[in-house]
Amino acid sequence: MAAATDALTRQHELAAFAAEVSTCTKCRLAQGRTQVVFGVGNPDADLMFVGEAPGFHEDQQGYPFVGAAGKLLDKLLGGIALTRGDVYIANVLKCRPPGNRDPMPDEIEACEGHLFRQISLIKPLVIATLGNFATKLLSGKQHGITRVHGQPQPQTLGGLAVTLFPLYHPAAALYTPAMLRTLEEDFARLPELLSGPAAVPQPAATVFDFSLAGEPAESEVVATVAAAEPVEQLELF
Ligand code: URA
Repeated sequence: MAAATDALTRQHELAAFAAEVSTCTKCRLAQGRTQVVFGVGNPDADLMFVGEAPGFHEDQQGYPFVGAAGKLLDKLLGGIALTRGDVYIANVLKCRPPGNRDPMPDEIEACEGHLFRQISLIKPLVIATLGNFATKLLSGKQHGITRVHGQPQPQTLGGLAVTLFPLYHPAAALYTPAMLRTLEEDFARLPELLSGPAAVPQPAATVFDFSLAGEPAESEVVATVAAAEPVEQLELF
């Protein structure tokens, strides 16, 4: 009974917050948007996905991940016996950047409070970050997605202990078969993360060993991802 009341309160609070954010003018993106794309799904979800920003279709329809990348996300969810109704999906930015360009630092700064509040209302156990922008913002680190994908990490967000689980962005995986396979493999670990204990910090020695194990330098990783993602985004949104 208490859990049902909690879920209802959460739903109402999230709806009230969505109404508030729908008129946001904190950054320049307010001028070009069709509408704010707040987020969608189960306000009581244990699993939350955070992508980058709305694209053309999301801006038109008002929901995140409704284009080609969204179809892949639905398929990946199906692969672990989940639907959109089981999870919550949001983005770092709530408004579409013109021409689907990358989010700018001041836009992320203006918008991040909305995401943190969403997280503190939904209280997910696991947050899967899709791509570089969400991963860097929520991890608070500059490590690129190529280096950290598939590595669960403990994090405190919105005053809440969560397991952060970085994944490749579905838009990037759409056109790169090797990336898609990796995304599928990483995705398959989500059920285990949802049912298991929260991630524990990696000992420093492990991190050190990892960096010696043939992983590209961060500058190379950033360059690779930077080269891969915008091209796909331009084609997609
Ligand atoms: N659609 C979204 O809503 N977010 C992304 O990051 C990409 C596509």
